[in-house]
Amino acid sequence: MEKTSISLRLTPYVRNAFFSSMDVCIRISRLDVASGFELCRIQKETVRIPFCPMEPLQAYDELGYIPLTDTEESAYPIVYKKWMCGRDVSGAVTIEYSVYPRILPPGYTSSPYFDFRAEDGGANGAGLTFLANVPDAGGLLDLKWDLSHMPAGARGIWSYGEGDISREGEMSDFLHTYYAVGDIRSEVSGDYGFYWLSEPPFDLRELARQTRTLFVKMSGFFRDIRSVYRIFVRRDPFEKSGGGTALQRSYMFGYSNAAVPTPDKVRNLLAHEMVHNWPLMEDEPYGTCTWYSEGCAEYYSILLPVRFGLASREYLLNELQNRTDAYYTNPTRGMGNMEAAAICWEDRRAQKIAYGRGLFFLAETDTAIRRATNGEKSLDDVVLALLVRSGNGEKYGNDAFIGTVKEISGLDLAGRLRDMASGMPFAPPRDGFDGLLDYTEVNTLEADTGLPAITYKWFLREKA
Ligand SMILES: [Zn+2]
Repeated sequence: MEKTSISLRLTPYVRNAFFSSMDVCIRISRLDVASGFELCRIQKETVRIPFCPMEPLQAYDELGYIPLTDTEESAYPIVYKKWMCGRDVSGAVTIEYSVYPRILPPGYTSSPYFDFRAEDGGANGAGLTFLANVPDAGGLLDLKWDLSHMPAGARGIWSYGEGDISREGEMSDFLHTYYAVGDIRSEVSGDYGFYWLSEPPFDLRELARQTRTLFVKMSGFFRDIRSVYRIFVRRDPFEKSGGGTALQRSYMFGYSNAAVPTPDKVRNLLAHEMVHNWPLMEDEPYGTCTWYSEGCAEYYSILLPVRFGLASREYLLNELQNRTDAYYTNPTRGMGNMEAAAICWEDRRAQKIAYGRGLFFLAETDTAIRRATNGEKSLDDVVLALLVRSGNGEKYGNDAFIGTVKEISGLDLAGRLRDMASGMPFAPPRDGFDGLLDYTEVNTLEADTGLPAITYKWFLREKA
């Protein structure tokens, strides 16, 4: 069978020094859809982040114009808009429309950084807020930039490379990646790069170099030989910023000139988002496995830099203390994982639960495995074994975690995982962070409510 190719042509426009719009043209070499069935869809809303404002979508096949009707479907936390064919469609299909960068509503102070936004001389954002998708399509992905309406020197960058790029993949890869276009500054080394539009008030080049060292070491730890990795930087126009969002082989990191982040904060944020490149479970239904991906990102972002000798034990102490206080004083910490996931985009306190709970549960799992195997095995063995399965294209959830822990240590953590997921309280494990720390219990108050709570004050153990 002839291999499908999906070509994506992006034509951005800068007018009067402002990024104004972008034409999107998607061509699929072969597609058969019966009348009444779906041609394509957009993610009209993804965890509250809207798709870009767009001109009407139009589609053609070899017979010409395809009549379309549209419909909406909610699959929390995504709302889809789907276009259905008004007649049978076959052969090469072209889908075209134009998008405008998102204008932030007044008072907006949020992430994740999916939205396609304009900034000094260009724009950046995730494909899922400006690209249509044909579910299950895949083959040769062919990205082309038409920069003829941009000022001289404009560049187009995708998570997988700069300029025109061809690679095998799923069409959804176009959505789960970042794009930046315009007058882009960068710090690049091979397939690793940092890309930004506005010059920030801190040394981004130095940060890029440090982060590259971390990437190389983390890649080694997670047994990854792929070199592609790109970090996109945006300046938020609102003060309460400073987040990051990870997609395939890349992430977007944001800061605000009104509250310039400290180097430590930025380094840790970058480390967290970088870990997302590797350990991942299929979060299906939404919220069942968030504890694992966020927990791993938290756990390894504070431990690995210390193991690599790139950060001090005090870094671990400080980062862990912040996380401990945040989790154990969070008034929503008694919610179950699914309950929290259902409201987490309304109540950001509930959104944070998975981070602390995952971190402490993984640390507890690590101590349990070390104890059961006389220190021969650890959580790392579980995470790496699961990663091998991901590398084979497998998708998995909590059962695989339980099964792998059992294979490696003989322990059955199914009951503990159920308790953790239900929101049952548990203290952090004393030996959970490479045995470097211990704590004392401290009475404190919940954030917001002022109700009594117990947190844990960590201190460094004497070096053995
Ligand atoms: Zn994360």
